[in-house]
Amino acid sequence: MSADPLALARDLLRCRSVTPAEGGALKFLEGTLKAAGFTVHRMTFSETGADDVENLYARIGTAAPHLMFAGHTDVVPPGDEKAWAHPPFAGEVANNELYGRGAVDMKGGIACALAAVLDHLSHHAGKPKGSISFLITGDEEGIAVNGTPKLLQWAEERGEEFDHCILGEPSNVAELGDTIKIGRRGSLNGHLIVTGKQGHVAYPQRAENPIRGLVTLVAALQTKPLDSGTALFPPSHLEFTSIDVGNKTVNLIPDEARARFNIRFNDKHTLDSLKKLIEKRAAKATKNLATGGKIRYAFEWEPSNAWVFVTEPGPFTELVTEAITKVTGRTPELSTSGGTSDARFITAHCPVVEFGLVGQTMHAIDERVPVADLRALTTIYRTIIDRYFTA
Ligand SMILES: [Zn+2]
Repeated sequence: MSADPLALARDLLRCRSVTPAEGGALKFLEGTLKAAGFTVHRMTFSETGADDVENLYARIGTAAPHLMFAGHTDVVPPGDEKAWAHPPFAGEVANNELYGRGAVDMKGGIACALAAVLDHLSHHAGKPKGSISFLITGDEEGIAVNGTPKLLQWAEERGEEFDHCILGEPSNVAELGDTIKIGRRGSLNGHLIVTGKQGHVAYPQRAENPIRGLVTLVAALQTKPLDSGTALFPPSHLEFTSIDVGNKTVNLIPDEARARFNIRFNDKHTLDSLKKLIEKRAAKATKNLATGGKIRYAFEWEPSNAWVFVTEPGPFTELVTEAITKVTGRTPELSTSGGTSDARFITAHCPVVEFGLVGQTMHAIDERVPVADLRALTTIYRTIIDRYFTA
């Protein structure tokens, strides 16, 4: 008898595991994996100023190669529960679709990986020809300090070595099999602060209006593209998200003006080189001004752990691609688009690809997944595992 991804997904969806609550989801995985012969570790991580969060690591086998499935059981809040066609934590199926918070992001994906692994083991005397592990956090949707980074550090200190990882986030855009994520852009938040001199608006010669300087710099930073893209990434992009003066007085020239921006950047840059580039462009923009470069400004950079990464296409991405094509008939795009994910932490330990369900309803009211997608994703994972351990 083969494991049923629908039953596993329903059990997971019935756990109210809104970050940082465990909600029974990890306990369920622990029980299921232990019964299949996995050694299971549960650990709670803490950090001052953040909620304690529970996590799980489970492994079967001791030999190489070691294939890791990564993911998270926490979910975002359901929003207005009455607005759902089917309750968000009931695991109901209607019109061949499974409803619930986390159906695609990403309890459904975890259920498929679990079913595929259980199937593989039951066809191979309960043991892989190498090792399989699950690295599952309860802290992905929140501020994510007590999740995957600490799990990976914990694993490294134990001497765990991973060869490849599949992160089952909902990578597909419109149909199962259309997209594998092999990398993500980096993300950097910055503030631009221009200082002036406060004064009466009727006597601007006695004041120094920082808004003039801010407008000049904002314009300059948007004029030229940061780059023209790379082989695997779209061009980097800077977008201003706020301009603030906060001046409520009509006859007052303020003494400070601020702007906030975010940059999504590709593998041409590091966080440091990017900051230097922006600062250089600002300096250049103030140089040729009629005012003789008299803009007093500074940048403040927010700390970022969202650096850029990419898993270069090769035998592992080919194996995943072939399995997807075999099951769905589609040739997935190898994409680096979208926001950040926990893959940026995993990439420091082993090559990682993201492939899961279709992301269209994630974080939305009536998040749901076609039951057929759950079955197809399970078959894809099963194909990957079978080939991974016979190659
Ligand atoms: Zn997710």
